[in-house]
Amino acid sequence: MSSPSASPAEGALRFACACGALSGHIAPGSARQGSRIHCHCGDCRAVELHHGCPDPAGTGVDLLQLNPDMVKIDQGAEHLSLLQLSPRGLYRWYAGCCGTPLFNSPRTAKLPFIAIRAALFAEPDSLGKVIARTFIPKKGKPPQHKGAARMTYKLIGRMLSARLTGRWKQTPLFDTETGAPVALPQVLTKAERKALTNA
Ligand SMILES: [Zn+2]
Ligand SMILES: [Zn+2]
Repeated sequence: MSSPSASPAEGALRFACACGALSGHIAPGSARQGSRIHCHCGDCRAVELHHGCPDPAGTGVDLLQLNPDMVKIDQGAEHLSLLQLSPRGLYRWYAGCCGTPLFNSPRTAKLPFIAIRAALFAEPDSLGKVIARTFIPKKGKPPQHKGAARMTYKLIGRMLSARLTGRWKQTPLFDTETGAPVALPQVLTKAERKALTNA
C-alpha cells in the first residue's frame, strides 16, 4: 500500500466545483473500492434542480459511493456548504462559491459513507462501471433497484473496515471531536422542497 502524503499521489483522480475554487482528489485505488451508481430518487433529483443543474430525470444522478477518508479536499474547503431537503434528510453538501452540488452523506461521521457526484471529475469514466441503479420509477409500483445487493454488500464492507480501523475519523465533513458538521445545515421548508419536483 502507498504511504499517506499531503500532496495527491500520481494517478489521483481530481475533482472540482464548477468555478474551481474548491478542488480535491481521491486516491487512484479508491474508485475500485467504491461503487459507481445512478440514483433515480426524488431527493437526488431535487438537489440537482435546486442548484440549477440539468434535470437528471431518466438518467439518474451519477454517484461514486466511498468512505469519507478516501476523499481529500486540496483547496477551498471553506466553501463547503450544507443543505437538507428535510430535517431528517441526508446531508447534501455543495460548494458555496458557485452552488455546485458535491456530495451526500449521513448526518453523523459514525456512519462512514459519502457519495460524490461523478460530474465533478474531469473524466467520470475513470471511476469505473456503474454497478447499480436505484429508485428507478415504475408507474403504479414502488421504485425498482438494479444491482442493489452488490452495492449494499460493498457499502457494508467499506463501512465496517472504516469503523474497525478508526479511519472513519478522517473525514472532510465533520469535526469528529464534537460530532458537528463543518458547515451549518440549511433545511428547506416543505413548500420549497415540493416546488422543486412538482413543476
Ligand atoms: Zn438518491
Ligand atoms: Zn465553486
